[in-house]
Amino acid sequence: MNYTPAPYPLVECRLDILRDNVKHITNRCHDAGVTVAGVVKGVNGKLPLVRQFVEGDCDQIASSRLEQLYDIKMTGIQKPLLLVRIPMPCEVPNVVSICDITLVSEVATMEALNEECLKQNKKLKVIVMADLGDLREGFWERDELVDACVRIETKMPGLELAGVGTNLGCYGSIQPTVEKMDELIAAAEAVEAAIGRQLEWISGGATSSFVLVNDGVSPSRINHLRIGENILLGRDLQVDWKITNMQYLRMDAFTLKAQVIEVKNKPSHPVGKIFMDAFGNFPTYVDRGIRRRALLGLGKLDLANIEKLIPREEGIEVLGGSSDHTILDIEDYEGDLKVGDILEFDLCYNTLLFLTSSRSVILRYFEGEQEVFE
Ligand SMILES: *Cc1c(COP(=O)(O)O)cnc(C)c1O
Repeated sequence: MNYTPAPYPLVECRLDILRDNVKHITNRCHDAGVTVAGVVKGVNGKLPLVRQFVEGDCDQIASSRLEQLYDIKMTGIQKPLLLVRIPMPCEVPNVVSICDITLVSEVATMEALNEECLKQNKKLKVIVMADLGDLREGFWERDELVDACVRIETKMPGLELAGVGTNLGCYGSIQPTVEKMDELIAAAEAVEAAIGRQLEWISGGATSSFVLVNDGVSPSRINHLRIGENILLGRDLQVDWKITNMQYLRMDAFTLKAQVIEVKNKPSHPVGKIFMDAFGNFPTYVDRGIRRRALLGLGKLDLANIEKLIPREEGIEVLGGSSDHTILDIEDYEGDLKVGDILEFDLCYNTLLFLTSSRSVILRYFEGEQEVFE
């Protein structure tokens, strides 16, 4: 028996829009002397999308996941591949065989990478991470950072110390500012003084650090950024940060289309003794009386945070859902919504990340209105 997947839920990917976003970001970075690593983990390294990063001329392709970088390498894409999650010790052999560059923050891992490089007769570039307050990866003490860099430079012939980098705006929500960049440059210059040469890159961060390039205030020694969300979606900075001078980036490269499986009038407050939901939470509900609601055939298996879906049409509110259902309030929706209808949603990074990895979600690729088959 053959299984033909249903056509929905579907994510439509506009390759032309994505490619234009890549070009806009890369051009601005190149004008500022900044090398761009295009980070593709947000779309699970899907190859038709990765190709737009290549055609849009970013300098390196980056992901946190080796299996994605492996697929990219195997398709023959020539760009240098950068691993943006510091390696697990158990993945060291794969890092060396697949990647050209990796971020690092632990001397033990550097030593393991060095040994593996000697074994495989390869040279791996490393960017040593400094933690400037975001409290994820990276050396906290400046002296330890410099010592590790000197060890790479003098005692690890398999590795090439290519730079120093940082990550901001992730765990600790720290905003990249000119002051933070100057701190990173100071750390890099301490390393340069200790090794007696200039580093190839000072890697100033991710999407959030691009704001400084966009405003023309990024210090000139910051010459490497690793950018994902702003290329894929352009949404965090324009919508959440309310940045108004990035309108050249389009936010609609991806559209989710999902099918309505039930439409009924129901109370807005659950009926009975309120206990616990399917995920062990104890939520509260507002009683808004009887409301018209719709269910979609799509749930937390496909995207962890249903409430982050952004309906394209007015009058639709995402109430929540469970593993396999999304519940919408459509009381204020003007149209006549029926079972079988298709609704469209904009995506944010979080929803895009999950949807592109769900086996239940179909991905289709378009150049303008024209579908392309990859
Ligand atoms: C994911 C990641 C990036 C890309 O982040 P965006 O906010 O999507 O631009 C850059 N650097 C590191 C270390 C990452 O893990």
